[in-house]
Parts: sequence; structure tokens; C-alpha cells
Amino acid sequence: MIEPEAALEIILKSTSRLDAVDIDIVSSVGYILDEEVMSIDEIPPFDNSAMDGFAIRAADTDSATKDSPARLKIIDDQPAGRVSEKTVLPGTAIKVMTGAPIPAGTDSVIPIELTTYDDVVVNITEPFATGKNIRLAGEDIPKNSIVMRPGRLLQPVEVGVLASIGRTKVRVVRKPKVSILGTGDELIPLGAPLVPGKIRDSNSFVLLNQVLNAGAEAHRIGVAKDTLEDVQAKLSAAMVNDVVVTTGGVSVGERDFVKDVLLEMGAEQKFWKVAQKPGKPVAFLTLGEKLIFALPGNPVAAVVCFEEYVRPALLKMMGQTKLHRPLVNAIAAEDFKKKAGRKHHLGVMLEQKDGHYFVKLNGRQGSGILTSMAGADGIALLPKEATLIKAGEKVKVQLINLPEDH
Ligand code: AMP
Ligand code: MG
Repeated sequence: MIEPEAALEIILKSTSRLDAVDIDIVSSVGYILDEEVMSIDEIPPFDNSAMDGFAIRAADTDSATKDSPARLKIIDDQPAGRVSEKTVLPGTAIKVMTGAPIPAGTDSVIPIELTTYDDVVVNITEPFATGKNIRLAGEDIPKNSIVMRPGRLLQPVEVGVLASIGRTKVRVVRKPKVSILGTGDELIPLGAPLVPGKIRDSNSFVLLNQVLNAGAEAHRIGVAKDTLEDVQAKLSAAMVNDVVVTTGGVSVGERDFVKDVLLEMGAEQKFWKVAQKPGKPVAFLTLGEKLIFALPGNPVAAVVCFEEYVRPALLKMMGQTKLHRPLVNAIAAEDFKKKAGRKHHLGVMLEQKDGHYFVKLNGRQGSGILTSMAGADGIALLPKEATLIKAGEKVKVQLINLPEDH
């Protein structure tokens, strides 16, 4: 049996970043950039108006007063998207809309609401400064500049930046393809009637969505019966992908075949059994470049083992460098009791008061009580040797699911 920290270290040592692919920017959110993105163009590509107003020569307004306004002749109307061929000479102006190019000869844009005007003339009743309301070419992105470097997580705004510089494709780190395989004679599929001795498969659906939430690709292989032949067949089918996640059949029972079959297939066992509760019988193996996580069948154990071991590995494969959920020091809102000897993971709720998180259990706990993790804000990590954490003492909580604050 090894410690959870050692287990994670072994996993991350065996995990490498995947290769790169070119994808459409439209579907690039969640990927890690794998190229230096340059812009040849400057953005915006031309000086343009930040307001609806009149492009003027500011000097024309120097002696403007209420009684003797500057009266500038409107020589053109320039909406966004059009370039006026006219040049503004002293005593004239061009009506412009937000985003319209700054007309030749002008040096300022006076907002429409500071003027009075008709079709022919605009009146300005006080001096207006030069250089106002002009967005300069290149103020967002200079010509021939580096816009983003490799390693950047692409988010909606990054996609917008790529669009603004004219990119349609972008080179990113590929996402891992993950096989999900349940095991157990007791499991019946989604929608089937419950009959004596059987339970419904829930782990497959939790894991499928945990994989998707982590940003990877999930493929359900199904559920293997507790026979050597079926475990063999389903594991072979699962092995087409980069990562295989199984649940159940990895403990010490006579019909727990998962590990034996994997070893027979040539997989190398990196560890089996971790000093934690729940999730002790978790195993990690590799087969060539493939990673295999054999998670316990108990539903909460599967959730916890995914969070602790599978998720960081998937993030690393995707090229992320931040692999861990945020960890906060919360204050116990009630006593937490446990046995010494193993680190405990518990589904908890957090409440924020006076700048502190207060933590309490998310209902009854147990490795088979899946609802203890449903809606949990976090997983409390209780140290190996602790036996009693009293209300008011500190508890480390991994944030897995904090809702919006307001
Ligand atoms: P095992 O690790 O195969 O010994 O299973 C441990 C416990 O988890 C047993 O009570 C199983 O019935 C339960 N279990 C195993 N696989 C699943 C699953 N896919 N969904 C829900 N419960 C499961
Ligand atoms: Mg089983």
C-alpha cells in the first residue's frame, strides 16, 4: 500500500503531453495552444472613430463660443465599413459612426451629442481638443507581433483574438480519448427493470461526465461480466484509446479479474492499493503509452479516485500545467471523526462567512452513498493520522463544484 501523494507522483511521471493537431478555431475552446501565434496585421487595421459624431479639425473650434459657434460644413457621411474619398479642409467636417475610418485631414471626433446639426452644417459651441475619440491602428495588436504563446488555454476571448487576426485554424494539443468500462455481474444497463440481486450501473455515467468535464473525449465501452473471457474481450476493445478507466473487479475477490487480465495483456502495474478511504484498491498500470486506471467499484471511491488520479493525468496529457483543483483551508463547522491510518475523502458543503469557508458534511457518508458527492462543493481531505477534527479547527477542502456566488 502506498500513500496518495506517492501514487499521484507515479501517475504524473508516467504521463506525457499528447501530440499536436490543427483544429478550427470555432471548436478550440478548452484546448492548449501549441504554437506561437503571430499577427501580420495590426488590429485595429486603421485609425477609427470611438463614437458616433463628427470628424473635425480641432483647430476649427478654437474660438467657438455659445454666441459664436464654429459652423462646419458637412461634406460627407461615413458609416462603419466605408472609406470616404473626401479630405476635410478647414471649415468642414465629416459625419462618422463608431468604427468608421478617421477621414483624411481630421484630428478629432466630437460626439454627436455635443453638437447641433442639420444635413448641411454642424455647430460646435466650445473649443474641442485634438486627438479625441480616435482608436489608433494597432492599439490592440501591433503589426508582426506575438499574440499568444504555446501553453495558453484557449477560452472564448482567445478565440475572438484569433478571429480578429484572421486565423481559421490553430495548432493545439490533442485531447486524450478515454475508454470507460464497468465490470460486474450485478450491473444492469440504463432503463432496464430492477430484478433481485441486481443494481443499476451508475459509475459509467459519473465517469463519462467527469472525463467530459475535464475536457477530454469519453467513450463508453459498456459493462463486462465477471468472467475472464468477458473482461478480456472488453478490455481489448477499451485499449484502442489513450486512457482506459475501469471500475470494479480490482479488489481481492475471486471474481476480480481486471488486474490479472491487464497483466496478461502485458500491462505494467505501477501500483495497487493506496492508503486512502474510500478508494483503497485502486490500481494504475501502463501499456506502452497507454494509461490504465483500474478504479474500485464503490461509487464514491470511483468519484474520488477519478478526481485524485485520473483528472490530473488527463489535464497533463492535454498540455495543461495547472493540474489540481483549488485547495482551501476551511473551518470545521462540526466535528469530523475518523480512524487513524488512511487519508479520508469526504463530500462536503461550504459556506462563506466573514471571508472564511465553513465546512460541513454533505449528508451521510460511505463508499456506497453516491448522494454524499452529489451537489458537494468540495472534497474534504482529512489527514492520515487524524482521529478527531473539532469544530473550529482547520480542514483542507478541494473545491470541485462551487456554484456561482450571486
Ligand atoms: P467491486 O469493486 O467490483 O467489488 O464493487 C464494489 C461495489 O461497487 C459493489 O457493491 C458493486 O456492486 C458496486 N459497483 C461496482 N460497479 C458499479 C457500477 N458501475 N455502478 C454502481 N455500483 C457499482
Ligand atoms: Mg465487482
